[in-house]
Amino acid sequence: MNVNQSIPPVPPFGQPQPVYPGYHQSSYSGQSGSTAPAIPYGAYNGPVPAYQQTPPQGISRALPSSGAPPASTAQAACGQVAYGQFGQGDVQNGPSSTVQMQRLPGSQPFGSPLAPVGSQPAVLQPYGPPPTSTQVTAQLAGMQISGAVAPAPPSSGLGYGPPTSLASASGSFPNSGLYGSYPQGQASPISQAQGHPGIQTPQQSALSQASSFTPPASGGPRLPSMTGPLLPGQDFGGPSVSQPNHVSSPPPQALPPGTQMTGSLGPPPPMHSPQQPGYQPQQNGSFGSARGPQPNYGSPYPAAPTFGSQPGPPQPLPPKRLDPDAIPSPIQVIEDDRNNRGTEPFVTGVRGQVPPLVTTNFLVKDQGNASPRYIRCTSYNIPCTSDMAKQAQVPLAAVIKPLARLPPDEASPYVVDHGESGPLRCNRCKAYMCPFMQFIEGGRRFQCCFCSCINDVPPQYFQHLDHTGKRVDAYDRPELSLGSYEFLATVDYCKNNKFPSPPAFIFMIDVSYNAIRTGLVRLLCEELKSLLDFLPREGGAEESAIRVGFVTYNKVLHFYNVKSSLAQPQMMVVSDVADMFVPLLDGFLVNVSESRAVITSLLDQIPEMFADTRETETVFVPVIQAGMEALKAAECAGKLFLFHTSLPIAEAPGKLKNRDDRKLINTDKEKTLFQPQTGAYQTLAKECVAQGCCIDLFLFPNQYVDVATLSVVPQLTGGSVYKYACFQVENDQERFLSDLRRDVQKVVGFDAVMRVRTSTGIRAVDFFGAFYMSNTTDVELAGLDGDKTVTVEFKHDDRLNEESGALLQCALLYTSCAGQRRLRIHNLALNCCTQLADLYRNCETDTLINYMAKFAYRGVLNSPVKAVRDTLITQCAQILACYRKNCASPSSTGQLILPECMKLLPVYLNCVLKSDVLQPGAEVTTDDRAYVRQLVTSMDVAETNVFFYPRLLPLTKSPIESTTEPPAVRASEERLSNGDIYLLENGLNLFLWVGASVQQGVVQSLFSVSSFSQITSGLSVLPVLDNPLSKKVRGLIDSLRAQRSRYMKLIVVKQEDKLEMLFKHFLVEDKSLSGGASYVDFLCHMHKEIRQLLS
Ligand SMILES: [Zn+2]
Repeated sequence: MNVNQSIPPVPPFGQPQPVYPGYHQSSYSGQSGSTAPAIPYGAYNGPVPAYQQTPPQGISRALPSSGAPPASTAQAACGQVAYGQFGQGDVQNGPSSTVQMQRLPGSQPFGSPLAPVGSQPAVLQPYGPPPTSTQVTAQLAGMQISGAVAPAPPSSGLGYGPPTSLASASGSFPNSGLYGSYPQGQASPISQAQGHPGIQTPQQSALSQASSFTPPASGGPRLPSMTGPLLPGQDFGGPSVSQPNHVSSPPPQALPPGTQMTGSLGPPPPMHSPQQPGYQPQQNGSFGSARGPQPNYGSPYPAAPTFGSQPGPPQPLPPKRLDPDAIPSPIQVIEDDRNNRGTEPFVTGVRGQVPPLVTTNFLVKDQGNASPRYIRCTSYNIPCTSDMAKQAQVPLAAVIKPLARLPPDEASPYVVDHGESGPLRCNRCKAYMCPFMQFIEGGRRFQCCFCSCINDVPPQYFQHLDHTGKRVDAYDRPELSLGSYEFLATVDYCKNNKFPSPPAFIFMIDVSYNAIRTGLVRLLCEELKSLLDFLPREGGAEESAIRVGFVTYNKVLHFYNVKSSLAQPQMMVVSDVADMFVPLLDGFLVNVSESRAVITSLLDQIPEMFADTRETETVFVPVIQAGMEALKAAECAGKLFLFHTSLPIAEAPGKLKNRDDRKLINTDKEKTLFQPQTGAYQTLAKECVAQGCCIDLFLFPNQYVDVATLSVVPQLTGGSVYKYACFQVENDQERFLSDLRRDVQKVVGFDAVMRVRTSTGIRAVDFFGAFYMSNTTDVELAGLDGDKTVTVEFKHDDRLNEESGALLQCALLYTSCAGQRRLRIHNLALNCCTQLADLYRNCETDTLINYMAKFAYRGVLNSPVKAVRDTLITQCAQILACYRKNCASPSSTGQLILPECMKLLPVYLNCVLKSDVLQPGAEVTTDDRAYVRQLVTSMDVAETNVFFYPRLLPLTKSPIESTTEPPAVRASEERLSNGDIYLLENGLNLFLWVGASVQQGVVQSLFSVSSFSQITSGLSVLPVLDNPLSKKVRGLIDSLRAQRSRYMKLIVVKQEDKLEMLFKHFLVEDKSLSGGASYVDFLCHMHKEIRQLLS
């Protein structure tokens, strides 16, 4: 018996299928139907850090309304103009009508006690006190491989000494002499490796190293540089040897592919065998040996032919610096994964499979586990016990993007309708029916895979089992065969037991002096006239169900009646911002097509109405309050689009003062720069979440606006923040309009609640992202779009079982754009292990970095930034030391041995450590830092990957006719050739770097000028020229933009030009001007930390 008649049979395993009724691909993907815009609204736009801009020209007026007329006059003036223009036949709106306006119930007083920022108090994880001793930063900055170890010492593997100088404090990037030297007369191990690529097997190496291995002592004293506060659950000191399962190193045959390096770390161990230790399994050749020559490293280290082939006596080494080609290369890892895993589809049928990297293009086939586009994990093999997990220190986390957009050739989740009975769930833990539920007793009952509870199968859901115990209809039902699917929710899942109304969008436009003067208001109003035709729709719907409303404001609010029956829009002014209410119900939220004429008229009139405004002051909290009250009155969820220009200093709830103070950087009070000024914003956010009111904030600041405070409401309601510093229409309109178009057209789930259930043994304990939590389990999202992720951390609460593995089920309850209440379910099964090596073999570094960045970026709210950095370093060292101790083959501690899956952990972690939030340069503003902090909070793994390690693409190296993206090079100045042109992008910024010796023909083809000197530095648009190179470069820029969720504005940078400093900030393998370590230096430092843990 199958009541599910409306469900068409599911072809086995998620082949691409036509859009299923009731669900559709996002409208901005070019499938939105016949009325789709000719020019697809594609890429979008990114933040412009203030330092990218030229200084504001003549707009540095004081924020307080010094030159402005008294507010009352200004308001009266606005009012008169407004009524004059709107007034024909308008009997509703007298000039003083605000006084008589009906007050709606439900206005909430402000001033509730301050709630903690960003997250729920229960799960905040405070850092401990700052470390008191060693200056890690100083060490990093001055790290050198000491040349003082001159005559190669025997096996002790001394490596570099303490920092001997703060070389390169001069500000230029180091490219010579910095990385220490090897003693005279002996070839560096690196050159040795280059001479013998891939000749060793793990077995050989392990044998060759066995003699020099010294088992690390347990429980060594905590070293000064490791005094960073512990992470939650973090063990003290080094890895313990007390774990019975992990005392001994596994036999060589069982080794995971380890990645070993000796070269960076001082003199090589003695030549006790023909094989040079430390160069065995280099499967992907990322240690230089198997790679082609690099431009700047032709052959710096002449190979010593006899080295390694004869166990000679130790000889003095020649001065050598560490070859950057010899350390793990992100470019190589990405390329290898593309080559190895980009060709076959990723089929999700097998538990615990590590998916291809986020940088690899691959097709996903759902065979019972959620696609990695929805869920990625730090590890796909979880330690069975919490002791093991504590020992490894590898965070167990999942980065979940419940409404992720899929490529066109992958099917959106099916919608399953169980009618009035609703989705089938476990009676005890409330988990939803999924492929892992076990049917028993001939199909009459099922055992819950999460809590083991035995449940009756309702008669209408009964089905016979086949000889394997599987229901015979398993492949006809998405919830029994697929990792991801949706259920239609019944009325029980709706607020107040009432099916929801379609959501509404309210556009709230700052019309103060700054907004008018820059042309923003005119640009925005013009754009909205056409953009309103592209509101998100569902399925084959002719038009969007979403209703719209309009508000303008400065220090008072203007509401507009745009009812279709009116000849002209009507304005109502509310000046009592202290106790906001909505002055009209009927005619405020309307259907776009019905009210088109009135709306168009309004958008035509707004720029004119305020053209002469001299009002510079704005309010902020009352604006959001008004929008939220309007949704409440209309009994619907929705989104507010707020376009705002200045620090809200007008007298009103949420009034702010300029509290920016760069002197706080590197002090214990630095955290206050990231905290909101007042609790009014959190109080308001809480009310918004209760109403399902999500806020997207577009900021256009000329100076400090306190992003840390203004972004609280967007952040807690699942919204987005966009920032356009020193906005000028001519320079920034493309970026702003691209972002706006994409944002307005995004498919959004409203009034959402997400719950992550797990099988017995682990549970979700911490959450990161843009949302609100009022208890410890439910993630509340006023709105959730396809770009937002929620990162969830898990902890053990019992022993896990290798056989049954571990299960996650993410259930998202939300209201669709058409007002349908739905549940989206994602399931994922992971393996469990009793050997640490299995954990390290199945990790995903990109996801680890996503988690660690979010953890750190939340930490700065409560702890000194230095303490946060130290915590990251300590955790990374513990992760790698545990591997070294328990999983790697015995060898000298002079070698740095990294797990194959984590060999990029040091380079990526260093990028997080030197990011603007954790180590700001002088040019980074407080607002920039707060902005980036909140952006990263909801980034997915692909976004954090490129954000922290930018992509650098040489443009003239590959043949002009080549249509594929050129292979990237490492983000270091040493990789730049002055005869070439490069594109660099990180998802928010896009640079075109032009070398000083670029051929004149190339300059002509791209810029239409005859020489390098004639290229305009800072150019943001390339001329449209009809030649292959120009077309190729512009095409590539378009394609990069299309891949990112925000529009990246182009900046042309010339070599040796002033702007180059901006560009160099993104060459993350180099030492940064703000003191961030180079990759090589950081790797040395990390090795030192690991050795301290092991000794
Ligand atoms: Zn259960």
